[in-house]
Amino acid sequence: MTVVNDQLTLILREKVHTLFAEGVADVFIGYRHGGKPLRVQPHVARSAADADQLVWNPTCINNLTSTLHKFADMRVGILVKGCDSRALVELIKLRQVRRDGVYIIGAPCPGIVDHELIARSVDPATITDIFVEEAQVMLTTDAGEITLDPADALYAKCLTCAQPTPDLYDELLGDPIAVHPIPLDARFNAAIELEQLSVAERFAFWDEQLNKCTLCYACQAVCPVCFCTACALALPRNDPKRKNRDRESVFSFHLMRAYHMTGRCIGCYECERVCPVDIPLSAIFQKAEKESRDLFGYKAGSDVAAVPPLSTFGDKT
Ligand code: SF4
Ligand code: SF4
Ligand code: SF4
Repeated sequence: MTVVNDQLTLILREKVHTLFAEGVADVFIGYRHGGKPLRVQPHVARSAADADQLVWNPTCINNLTSTLHKFADMRVGILVKGCDSRALVELIKLRQVRRDGVYIIGAPCPGIVDHELIARSVDPATITDIFVEEAQVMLTTDAGEITLDPADALYAKCLTCAQPTPDLYDELLGDPIAVHPIPLDARFNAAIELEQLSVAERFAFWDEQLNKCTLCYACQAVCPVCFCTACALALPRNDPKRKNRDRESVFSFHLMRAYHMTGRCIGCYECERVCPVDIPLSAIFQKAEKESRDLFGYKAGSDVAAVPPLSTFGDKT
């Protein structure tokens, strides 16, 4: 079974048909059904027939902006959620994307379901539709309707989302979603928890976690704002240090990436989602985002005109 959400999907397809017919975009980056229940995959539509495979529903988790660099010389359309649009702001600011080269359809996003979490309550293969609203997640299944608490169904980032509707778009797919004030402590809970530990305890925590790292670099590849063509920190596949998961190589990769992402990370936590060994990378990037706010008053992804703190010199006072 695949999840359907007919109304918005049909509107999206219609909009993309129009973009192609009017010559606004040569390609459109969105989602199509994946091969497994509750899964979608990125989809690059180049024709009206391709556009008819596009979908928008509460399983569309991927941040598609990480693929934009592949279409630098084309007129590109893209579907973005609130968190994805923050990456676009940074990419435009860092001159990786031209604002006039991309047509943005913003998708107001009530939350995206985590298929692993849902599977604890319901067999994903039996789900035919999902509806997410503030206080509950409603599933239509072969056996009838099931309602879950958002904490038992959504990705953790969606429970503290401060921006469900993109700030940056050319048109919106549906009505904007109201923002409810979220205490920053809730958004940065993993980082704050680690701040309570002593340095030795924190080191022991990360030593244990990073000991699992296979240096597969999936976290770097998926990150929308980690865009160097060849990462200077990535070891070649046959390098013995990579094969042996050399501890210094692992630590230096993560420390340098954290430094490079400070002031850039927009908190999409795609890095953590794709990590095959479940390292809690969001704790690192919550800390980076928190320090950017506390030290420089800078919130990545919020303002195309704001200067990234690590790209300038000056007295922070
Ligand atoms: S963080 Fe917000 S915009 Fe992003 S997927 Fe979750 S609810 Fe949607
Ligand atoms: S470092 Fe992780 S959370 Fe931050 S922008 Fe990259 S993928 Fe998203
Ligand atoms: S995705 Fe996970 S295992 Fe792979 S390099 Fe990143 S932290 Fe290590």
